[in-house]
Amino acid sequence: MKSKTRKVIDLRSDTVTRPTPDMLVAMAEAAVGDDVYGEDPTVNELELFAAKKLGFESAIFASSGTQTNLLALLAHCQRGDEYIVGQQAHTYKYEGGGAAVLGSIQPQPLEVRPDGTLSLQQVEETIKPDDIHFARTKLVALENTIAGRALPMEYLAAMRELVESRNLALHLDGARVFNASVYHQIDVREITRYFDSVSVCLSKGLCAPVGSVLCGSAELIESARRWRKMLGGGMRQAGYVAAAGLVALRDNVERLQSDHENATKLFNGLKEVDALNLHADCVRTNMVFVNCGSQAAERLAGWLAERDIIVSPAASMRLVLHKDISSRDVTRVTKAVGEYFTTVD
Ligand SMILES: *Cc1c(COP(=O)(O)O)cnc(C)c1O
Repeated sequence: MKSKTRKVIDLRSDTVTRPTPDMLVAMAEAAVGDDVYGEDPTVNELELFAAKKLGFESAIFASSGTQTNLLALLAHCQRGDEYIVGQQAHTYKYEGGGAAVLGSIQPQPLEVRPDGTLSLQQVEETIKPDDIHFARTKLVALENTIAGRALPMEYLAAMRELVESRNLALHLDGARVFNASVYHQIDVREITRYFDSVSVCLSKGLCAPVGSVLCGSAELIESARRWRKMLGGGMRQAGYVAAAGLVALRDNVERLQSDHENATKLFNGLKEVDALNLHADCVRTNMVFVNCGSQAAERLAGWLAERDIIVSPAASMRLVLHKDISSRDVTRVTKAVGEYFTTVD
């Protein structure tokens, strides 16, 4: 007898999404050239499209969000300059210290508050005076969404005012900025207009297999292009992957809403499990955070793995909804978690 294979439900991240059939067709049919010569029409189209969609003069396509963030930091800051950044931000904590290693740029990390913001007062107090003892503060880098939280719009306006008054630049790690715009139900430019540069991941909820874009002024992007080449990021016939990125930006932004709805559905299901003690703040855009302690998380992850449901165990465990998890899959997850807590724990 042939055994029916059960679908694997992977809740670790929205990076696990597979390209859509439309993307595969676009990739196969892409017109390409040598992008290092500036001759790949599909890369050029993606860069133009991204710049326009995010409200900037120019954009550059790169292999990953880590690289677009690094390009931004290298383009904004010189050796001995400093950027102010969240202690828990990707650009500080999860990018291997690239700005320091490769750019001699000093990070000034500040604690991220529970709502995802940095204290404006702390940022202001941290800006170093022009004095030979200090690194030169040049940039503030924010992240939106951060741990699934869409930053409050009035905070972005206030931060813009602060950086302008102190002559600093403002970068957004917008790996999931479209989750923020969908959450606020606004055009993404309402968010990006406060920033001098924005990086966006095409390979998360937007489902492209690879890639990220950095948007900014023509001058900033020209500088980023030099750095990208130096880092080994010149990609030749990159139009084959840029084609998927174009589909991502054109067709896959609105679908993020269904990830948010599935996150809410998962949250509502898990809320019934007393042991998890979920409260309203545990659901944020396309993520649900479950705080059950690291040992229980390990046991739960093992139980779920036997049922073809994959999670990354952690004291605060992040469950991420994405294109390849349907509403029915959410029901399967909720049932499996419920069964674990009634039969095992
Ligand atoms: C995923 C992510 C990045 C970039 O990650 P890559 O894997 O290098 O594409 C940057 N910032 C945030 C907040 C992210 O979630």
